[in-house]
Amino acid sequence: MSKASLDNKKIATRMIHAGAEPDPSTGAIMTPIFQTSTYVQSAPGQHKGYEYARSQNPTRAALETALAVIENGKFGLAFSSGVAATDTVIKLLVPGDEVIAANDMYGGTYRLFTKVYEKFGIKFIYVDTTNPENVTKALTEKSKLIWIETPTNPLMNITDIEAIAAISKKAGTILCVDNTFASPYLQNPLDLGADIVMHSSTKYLGGHSDVIQGALIMNDEGLKDQLYFIQKSCGAVPGPFDCFLVLRGIKTLHVRMKAHCENGIVIANYLRNHPKVEKVFWCGFEDHHNHEIAKKQMRGFGGMLSFTLKDSSIEAATKVLSSTKLFSLAESLGGVESLINHPASMTHASIPREERIKNGLSDGLIRLSIGIEDAEDLVEDLKQAIG
Ligand SMILES: *Cc1c(COP(=O)(O)O)cnc(C)c1O
Repeated sequence: MSKASLDNKKIATRMIHAGAEPDPSTGAIMTPIFQTSTYVQSAPGQHKGYEYARSQNPTRAALETALAVIENGKFGLAFSSGVAATDTVIKLLVPGDEVIAANDMYGGTYRLFTKVYEKFGIKFIYVDTTNPENVTKALTEKSKLIWIETPTNPLMNITDIEAIAAISKKAGTILCVDNTFASPYLQNPLDLGADIVMHSSTKYLGGHSDVIQGALIMNDEGLKDQLYFIQKSCGAVPGPFDCFLVLRGIKTLHVRMKAHCENGIVIANYLRNHPKVEKVFWCGFEDHHNHEIAKKQMRGFGGMLSFTLKDSSIEAATKVLSSTKLFSLAESLGGVESLINHPASMTHASIPREERIKNGLSDGLIRLSIGIEDAEDLVEDLKQAIG
């Protein structure tokens, strides 16, 4: 259905029909995979809106419409990876500009900022964004962008998007929210005042651990034009088959997220009551320090959590990490199957140990991406692994 006709529809209808129009030449209900690099013109400059596939591709266009629909945005852009989407946002900046970024976020984002962009003269200031005052204090006249992630990876900290958006508006900066962990089913940052939403579509949007992709969604047309210009100029575009996979993933996002949330509740409570577990990091607990904000801005608490054992040695964590049978030891998250991960040596190894420990990411921390298998089987697996 067209984007406009979905504007007043409810969430499941939006997920299923987002970007899906029958193919005009055949009536195919699913958007075809337009595996082509170029398009024939009837005369120079006379074409059907498609010239060259780095700039335009109909499968990607359908996905980009879908991305806008599910995030309640006006425009969507798809990229060859989540970090390519982040990279595109940073390319809005010029040397001398300052970015205020969360001190607890995806390791690859931190690596991109510090190892790639600092040398171009862009300054990154890392603060604990769970307290909005820290953001206000870090603002200078050179601040151009505020980058937050909520819930954070892997400590499940919550930042108040509305509060940061108000600060950002007043300061005239761009607020970008990495919404990968929540997914558009649980949280819509544009509705809370953010300027750009970023996704690693590799995770919940794709949902089946079979594609690498990223997304940006926004409301402002000028901002969209700038980001689209960078997308086509720098070329980090996804191929049509990958776009097809993410389009297909989005159709079941609401069903999968409901199941992830249900299993998340069961596992969080199981671990919390386990005598060998020290702490469970999950924003669904009523005594989580930012639970009220999570409740205010999210529709559920998702399928991601982290925990530490009372025995804080790496050996104890390694034993659990190597003993699960249903939870596979792997990076990434958001697929239908459960994964277990050791942030200190895997996803967050690019953050210096000192920096990690300072931000509360201990060597023994174990992260779970809870899939949608039967909760009883997942509990049984953790039981035998933790012992
Ligand atoms: C995976 C991930 C990214 C990076 O996305 P890729 O698709 O791997 O490039 C960014 N942010 C978060 C929160 C992620 O989990």
